[in-house]
Amino acid sequence: MIIQLEHDIQDALLSDIQKEVAALGYKATEVKTQHQHYLVAIGKSEFDIRRIGHLDGVRDVHRVSDAYKLVSKKWKVGTSKIDVDGVPIGAGHFTMMAGPCSIEGEEQIKSILAHLSENGVKIMRGGVYKPRTSPYSFQGIGMDGLKTWYKCAKEYGIKIISEVLAVEQIEPMHDYVDIYQVGARNSQNFALLHELGKVDKPVLIKRGMSGTIEDLLQSAEYVFSSGNERLMLCERGIRTYEKAYRNTLDLNAVPILKEKTHLPVIVDPSHGIGLRRFVSDMALAGVMAGCDGLIIEVHEKPEEAFSDGQQTLSFPEFSQLIKACMETFAFRRRLQS
Ligand code: PEP
Ligand code: MN
Repeated sequence: MIIQLEHDIQDALLSDIQKEVAALGYKATEVKTQHQHYLVAIGKSEFDIRRIGHLDGVRDVHRVSDAYKLVSKKWKVGTSKIDVDGVPIGAGHFTMMAGPCSIEGEEQIKSILAHLSENGVKIMRGGVYKPRTSPYSFQGIGMDGLKTWYKCAKEYGIKIISEVLAVEQIEPMHDYVDIYQVGARNSQNFALLHELGKVDKPVLIKRGMSGTIEDLLQSAEYVFSSGNERLMLCERGIRTYEKAYRNTLDLNAVPILKEKTHLPVIVDPSHGIGLRRFVSDMALAGVMAGCDGLIIEVHEKPEEAFSDGQQTLSFPEFSQLIKACMETFAFRRRLQS
C-alpha cells in the first residue's frame, strides 16, 4: 500500500497515521523525495482502504500488489516526466542521448558537442570512469575530463549523462553531471543505489547483464525509496547463449516495463547489439517498441575511439538516425491515436 501524505504534514498527524497502519498489521517505511512524502506499507491483512484514506494528512492511498511499490504503474498512470533543467524525458516526449563510449579529451568533446547541437540533441553521454572487463583496458580520464566536458557542454546548453561506478564518486561528480548513469555491472549495487537516492539529480539505471525485468524494477525501487524519484530505466541487452552479437537486446522488455512502471524507459541499441551496421535499425525497433528515448554511441572517427568503436555510429550515420527516429516516433503515435 502507498499512502501519499500532505507535503507539510505535522508530526502529530503522521504519527497517528503510522499508528493506524501498525494496528492493521502493516509495516510502514517513510519515504520523502524531492516532490512527495509517502508511507510505503507492507502487510497482508484485508481492510477497507477508506480507513486510511479518511485520516487527516492523507492525500491519497493506493493498493499495490506488485513486489516493487513506488515505481509501479498500479498507483500512478502514464509516464512520469523528468525535467533535466528544461530538457524533458518521459510523459510523451522522445529524448535522444548520444555521445562517445569514453570521453577522450577536449578536441573530441568539442567535435561531438558541435555535431549534437547541429542535430538538436540536448543530452550528451560519455564515460569518464569506465567499467572495463579487463583491468588493462582504458579506464577513463576521470574527474579532470568530466570538468572540461561539463564546461564545454554548458557553452552549447547541452546536458550530460555519465556513469558513476562507486559511492565515493557521487559527491565529486555531483556539480559536473546532469544525470548519473548506473551501468549494467552495477545494476544491483544496492549501496550505490541507496546513496543515489539521496541526490538531487536524475538517475538512469541500466539493466544488469543477467538481470530480470523485475530485478531492474527493484533496483529502481531502491533509489526511489531512498528519496530520489527522478529515475529512468534502460534496456541495454542481456547475456544469453547467443554469440553472433555482443548482447541480446531484449526489446520485449520495453512494452513490459511500460506496462509495469510509470518510469521512462530508454533503449541502448549500441551495447544491445554491439555491431555498428545494425545499431540504427535496432534503435528504430526500440522506438516502435515504445521507448521514451535512446542512448547511442557516436564519434567523429569511430574506428579511432578509445572504447567500443565497433558499435559506435559515425556523424553521418547518426544524423540520418535522428531524423528517422523523429519520423518513427511520430508514426507510432499516429498508429496509437
Ligand atoms: C556505457 O554506457 O558505456 C556502458 C559501459 O554501458 P553498460 O553498463 O550498459 O555496459
Ligand atoms: Mn560503451
